[in-house]
Amino acid sequence: MLVVQKYGGTSVANAELIKHVAARVIRRIRAGDQVAVVVSAMGDTTDELIDLAFSVSPEPDPRELDMLLSTGEQMSIALLAMALRAQGQEAVGLTGHQAGIYTRAQYGSGRIARVEADRVRTELAAGRVPIVAGFQGTTEEMEIVTLGRGASDTTAVALAVALGADRCENCKDVTGVYTADPRLAPKARQLRDITYEEMLELATQGSQVMHNRAVELASVYNLPILVTSTMVDAPGTLIHGESELEERNRVRGIAHDTDVAKITVRHVPDRPGIAAHIFEPLAEAGISVDTIVQNASERDLTDLTFTLSRNDLKRAESLMPAICGAVGAPGFVADQNLGKVSIVGVGIQTAPGYAARMFRALFDAGINIELISTSEIRLTCLIGADRVGDAVRVLHDAFALEAPDRDLRD
Ligand code: ADP
Ligand code: ASP
Ligand code: MG
Repeated sequence: MLVVQKYGGTSVANAELIKHVAARVIRRIRAGDQVAVVVSAMGDTTDELIDLAFSVSPEPDPRELDMLLSTGEQMSIALLAMALRAQGQEAVGLTGHQAGIYTRAQYGSGRIARVEADRVRTELAAGRVPIVAGFQGTTEEMEIVTLGRGASDTTAVALAVALGADRCENCKDVTGVYTADPRLAPKARQLRDITYEEMLELATQGSQVMHNRAVELASVYNLPILVTSTMVDAPGTLIHGESELEERNRVRGIAHDTDVAKITVRHVPDRPGIAAHIFEPLAEAGISVDTIVQNASERDLTDLTFTLSRNDLKRAESLMPAICGAVGAPGFVADQNLGKVSIVGVGIQTAPGYAARMFRALFDAGINIELISTSEIRLTCLIGADRVGDAVRVLHDAFALEAPDRDLRD
């Protein structure tokens, strides 16, 4: 079988781990599989590079920031290729550009437009393991862009799709996808499998275990992803398109996110076009807005609240006075100490009572809900950032997620 294995930053954090990963790749090749590898930057390298950039400039130039950040992954590919060679396996490190990862620009959040995988195929055919730098690509103008935090997962899926690989294996410091972040919820249980749909919701609502665009891409091309451990031989969690009959009746997992800020525009005159006037300037500035709530109007005045990433708050706040002026609102208030917690499961759309159970569990724990948003398979509550851990744990109990999966075949 042909697989793309992706190793995250924690899996290649030091020389010992890199040698371990090299040995793991070699074992797989000896077992008869073809392997292409995608790696992230070592440990906290990306964070350190960002800090370094801000230590020389209060507002680093986006192009040069991407130039700098792309070096993190470039270190990893070179070191892993060296380690493989030292263990007797031919290998070649390839930057995003060399691996044919073409992206559309927007420094810091490039999107993969296409993958020209000829070079990678040639290396595979020659028996050399291609080690591809995740998180980076090149534009038609030969500019280096990065793809957004955590996006090495997306590089791996895109490469797997381009190569027609049998699956993508995401090798991590956890053994698979759990019902909640095991760092927060000690009772979290590993799932045997999960649908694209559910994983996409979890990832989009903050679950760090997979990058959401990776799941989206895999779903479009029906590419199975196995989330598995770098360190121990364990079965892992398969992300794929099927779900078991019985599973349709339950909450599959809980996602949390502590990176949430909120802006409320007060007393906006309620007339057509206000939403466009508020959100167009934000979109133009590349600020993505998450939940939007417009209150019912009272005497033709309404409050409009939206959430965004805390990182974008400063920039958004600088645009707000002009926006308020344009819609005739007297002002706005911002709150940056928020978090959100979501329950996700395909069963939510068919069975009643999930919302009531969620609100009751949070209420019993004395957690105040600031905003609620839903999709067909998700319920999200915005709460204080300091209560996110408690909320995850009480919801895990309320929905009995520690109980094992039921399976008709068991
Ligand atoms: P990598 O560097 O391999 O990409 P990440 O650190 O991005 O790994 O993601 C792995 C981390 O995701 C785990 O250490 C775990 O704490 C966290 N995580 C959050 N939610 C989940 C979940 N539902 N299942 C497993 N891990 C989760
Ligand atoms: N190194 C990048 C980051 O820290 C990409 C990744 O790890 O997937 O965001
Ligand atoms: Mg990651």
